[in-house]
Amino acid sequence: MSEVGAKALELRAVLEEILPPIREKYKNFDAWEAKMAFQCAVASRGWTAPAWPVEIGGKGLTLEEQLECDAEFSRFGTPQLPAVYGVKNVGPTIAAVGNEDQKKHLKGIIEATELWCQGFSEPDYGSDLGGLRCRADLDGETFVINGQKVWTSIGMHATHCMLLVRTDQNAPKHKGISALLVPLDLPGVSRRPIKQINGHAEFAEMFFEDVRVPKSALLGPMNEGWRVTMTTLEYERSGVITLAGALTGAINDLVKSDAVKTASPVMRDRIMKLYSEGRILNIMGEQVLAEALGKGSSGTASSLIKMVWSQLGRSLSEVRMDLTGMEAVADFHHPVAQSFMGGRSNTIAGGTTEVMKNLIGERALGLPREPK
Ligand SMILES: Cc1cc2nc3c(=O)[nH]c(=O)nc-3n(C[C@H](O)[C@H](O)[C@H](O)COP(=O)(O)OP(=O)(O)OC[C@H]3O[C@@H](n4cnc5c(N)ncnc54)[C@H](O)[C@@H]3O)c2cc1C
Repeated sequence: MSEVGAKALELRAVLEEILPPIREKYKNFDAWEAKMAFQCAVASRGWTAPAWPVEIGGKGLTLEEQLECDAEFSRFGTPQLPAVYGVKNVGPTIAAVGNEDQKKHLKGIIEATELWCQGFSEPDYGSDLGGLRCRADLDGETFVINGQKVWTSIGMHATHCMLLVRTDQNAPKHKGISALLVPLDLPGVSRRPIKQINGHAEFAEMFFEDVRVPKSALLGPMNEGWRVTMTTLEYERSGVITLAGALTGAINDLVKSDAVKTASPVMRDRIMKLYSEGRILNIMGEQVLAEALGKGSSGTASSLIKMVWSQLGRSLSEVRMDLTGMEAVADFHHPVAQSFMGGRSNTIAGGTTEVMKNLIGERALGLPREPK
């Protein structure tokens, strides 16, 4: 067994200390209150964004250290961290293209006093994001926002939103978009939860009616929001590298479990296929890492790993469901049933599998572009 590094050991000690009282108080880690209690405890110990550079409040971890630390989080079965969208996606985008004033939000993200969500998708514009309709019109030095967003993760609880809006109605569709940093406590913002198949409501629909924000809310240049968003989506997709580490850890646990000993030969074949694919995912992760470190972001490789990770996660949840059998099928709240239902969403979030295939085909394999 490989040795665990100093940072992972430091995190292990923190988790050993902060988790027991949260476990004691909240039986259900899916509850928002449990997630926030954990988030605040993690933030108070300076572990919200360990991958960020030390100058902006992180611990400057190398990717290897991040993988080890993510393995610790998953080993302890911790609740999800609500600040994740700020930490993995919005924060790095602000750090990359924001001005000094906007970079002050990074402190709020680190301290978990600002919870960021991403307002990109709209009812008819998910994969075809470039067609989005939510608009912001300049009235002097103020943007006036009108429109709707959907599938906004943590949208019911977020304090701020990185919002994509159309700011030029006449430009070709990808050219008239801007990114705005919008506090969600403004007059004219309303939200509605969306209940999912697994019984949770992790998404919101968000409505903007004559919401006014100063021009200084503009992130990156006016009408260049598409470029800004692509930066965010690349961070989102390459952030999957660390999730991939957790997934292969879960596959390894399954391989070592007692359930495998009594499984049928067909089931053992399926598990070994998962194991081999998990190994391939690890190798791809190392390549994405090398690419990301060389270029600052990871391009096509991140699409590839996002596609493989999400499909493998789905296969793992199917194998677990078949292994567990009626016990999980008959109990909606069973963790295996919950992960079976939830696991399917990762092949949609952050760009669907089909869209990833298009990107890989066009950018890596040089196939003809999809006609617009
Ligand atoms: C867990 C989760 C979290 C999410 N969080 C957020 C969030 O925080 N913020 C946010 O803005 N959005 C979020 N989304 C929304 C997500 O980005 C969209 O659902 C996704 O981009 C797909 O868009 P859509 O749902 O409109 O489906 P559509 O784009 O309508 O796609 C429907 C089907 O058509 C296929 N398809 C579409 N276009 C093509 C094409 N060109 N070629 C081949 N097949 C195609 C798709 O693959 C899919 O199977 C989240 C989604 C999920 C599942």
